[in-house]
Amino acid sequence: MNNRFNVGLYIRLSRDDGNIESDSIVSQRSLLNQYVRENSYNVIEEYVDDGFTGTNFDRPAFKRMMKDIEIGKINMVITKDMSRLGRDYIGTGELIEKYFPNNNVRYIAINDGIDTFLDNTNNDIAPFKAIMNDMYAKDISKKVKTSLHSRMKDGLYVSGRCPYGFMKDPKNKNHLIINPEQAETVRLIYALALKGNTYHFIAEELTKRKIKTPASYYNYVWNTKCISQELGVWVDTTIKTILTNQIYVGDTVQGKTKKINYKIKKSVKNNPKDYIIVENTHERIIDRDTFNYVQTLLPKNVKRPEKKRFYLLDGLLYCGDCKHRITIRYQKKTERCYTTCNYYRTYSKYHVCTAHTNNYETLEKVILGYIKEVCKKYLDKNKRKDFIGSIKFEDNTLKLKKQIVSLEHTNKRLTENLDKTYMDMLKGIIEEEQYIRISENIKKEIANNKKSIDNLKKEQIDSNKIDNKKIEKYSHQFLSLENPTRELIINLVDKIYIYQDKRIDILFTFKNTT
Ligand SMILES: [Zn+2]
Repeated sequence: MNNRFNVGLYIRLSRDDGNIESDSIVSQRSLLNQYVRENSYNVIEEYVDDGFTGTNFDRPAFKRMMKDIEIGKINMVITKDMSRLGRDYIGTGELIEKYFPNNNVRYIAINDGIDTFLDNTNNDIAPFKAIMNDMYAKDISKKVKTSLHSRMKDGLYVSGRCPYGFMKDPKNKNHLIINPEQAETVRLIYALALKGNTYHFIAEELTKRKIKTPASYYNYVWNTKCISQELGVWVDTTIKTILTNQIYVGDTVQGKTKKINYKIKKSVKNNPKDYIIVENTHERIIDRDTFNYVQTLLPKNVKRPEKKRFYLLDGLLYCGDCKHRITIRYQKKTERCYTTCNYYRTYSKYHVCTAHTNNYETLEKVILGYIKEVCKKYLDKNKRKDFIGSIKFEDNTLKLKKQIVSLEHTNKRLTENLDKTYMDMLKGIIEEEQYIRISENIKKEIANNKKSIDNLKKEQIDSNKIDNKKIEKYSHQFLSLENPTRELIINLVDKIYIYQDKRIDILFTFKNTT
């Protein structure tokens, strides 16, 4: 028995190593055992990291091994090859060239012929070998990423988990079909949002109706939010996710997160402009008009948690001077409700904005009176034309305009790239075959962008059109009611600006383009 060395055998297997049989735990172990038998080494401990990547050293068995080295339990490490130790060349190089020698540890990588206690040429190539192993990891990670990316661009649904309301097509796992039971709940959530309800109210309503939560369909609990969901409690964020997810109009939205790099497990949120959106990839649950309309209502349907009182105009009031929200609070002392500019209230010590204090009841009366006037004029068809020009409204098409310009810019750049690639082929820099492949990809992207531009332009026209019938209906209802409902108000009004000098600007939902 060779007693000079106390040996630790290190075995590692991870998913990014592929399905190579010689890398399996069993074959690594048998190779190592055969080696120590032949050389009569004294094995103290076996360290196995099953399912851990070599791109970092955050592995439990590896850490245990390092501790054992430090307390002198082992002074020799054997692995099948260097990539088992790690695929990070800086870290692996550090270990082999500094850490092991400094701690008087002998390291052997059997298949690479490395033995740090022998003076041989194989040791000299160790650093290069480490770089090769690192590049292999980078390459694999890139391959996985690009194939995933192109699949997303083809509108294939690649995520393992199914969005609520859908299920995977049994004939094609990358295609979504409607889950009838869940889709019914999705429609209910949108219907409740159309009535001007808050996320919080909708969540409570669903809980009250004992509707199964999304989490209760999955078999695992992945965070604390889900524990309450497991118990059948709907939470606000789930409602928000469902009300803002384009997947329900039939579009596939992917690439919302990305890995920082192949060495770090953590994902970060992607910029929305980098989302991969492919339209009409599956059957819709909500029609596009309803979805777009709900998006305009959501900012008005803000959560008002601790308030027991209901204010008709809550969520619609904004400070005309600083454009922040105006909040309504009840004052016990005077038993009255007052408005305050939120920005002023939060940062008053920095002397920003002014209080914008108004008695809420008075304010509400004035505003409702004004809306009534507008409704009356609107219904008088002789006066409508003259009067509608004086009505203020918010231009919701600005955002669309920006998106169109950005896409047009991208297409211009892509066309330039296409020309450049063609020139590269003529100059012989790239082969014709490469040119065809690259140019086809670029052309596909340009065509996709063009399609999106057309859709955005259509949307722009649609959102400029006034639905006269709808406005007439709401105006009639508004005038007929003693106390108008919140649903009516949010359908007629976008925003109300209150100025310090008591001026009031009401932005209506009707447009003045007739
Ligand atoms: Zn203000």
